[in-house]
Amino acid sequence: MPEAASLTKLSDISLPQAVPFRGVMLPVLATPTPFSFSRVTVRNNALQLALSSLPRDNRELAGHIVAQIDGWLRAQARRALCEEVERQKQQYGFSYNSVAIKDTRSRWGSCSGKGNLNFSWRLIMAPDEVLNYVVTHETAHLSHLNHSSDFWNLVRERCPGFRKAKSWLQSNGASLMNWKLSVR
Ligand SMILES: [Zn+2]
Repeated sequence: MPEAASLTKLSDISLPQAVPFRGVMLPVLATPTPFSFSRVTVRNNALQLALSSLPRDNRELAGHIVAQIDGWLRAQARRALCEEVERQKQQYGFSYNSVAIKDTRSRWGSCSGKGNLNFSWRLIMAPDEVLNYVVTHETAHLSHLNHSSDFWNLVRERCPGFRKAKSWLQSNGASLMNWKLSVR
């Protein structure tokens, strides 16, 4: 009975209590499934982890859970950031070269002179307004590759609440940069 075996093992594992996602803390619920692959979904304001019934020892199971949630967060980040860049492109008519999602610990985003946009996947843990502000900031660099008053005027025009988003990052940014999923 693989399902029963997974259940026993799950009780030996201490799951993360909550995962920050789009500005809220989602409690983590894990249940075994008879399928050979695991799946992460958000349902009923919780992060639901359906764990495959493949046999694993406790260490493997902990590593598998971390990889599942981590991969899911990064995929959500990629989708949200690419969608917001495209939405702004449609609205403002700029052009860019590429979007890359990275795990940079020192900055939330960057924009190169060649029009390559880079973002930290950790932005998916912040409220949407904050993610949108960072996208606005970097895409505004497509017009002004500096922090001149023309640059900030463009940011203000496209994102009137940018000061609030900036101060949110000042208060909470470090904890998101250092956030690490722990499963033992
Ligand atoms: Zn900048």
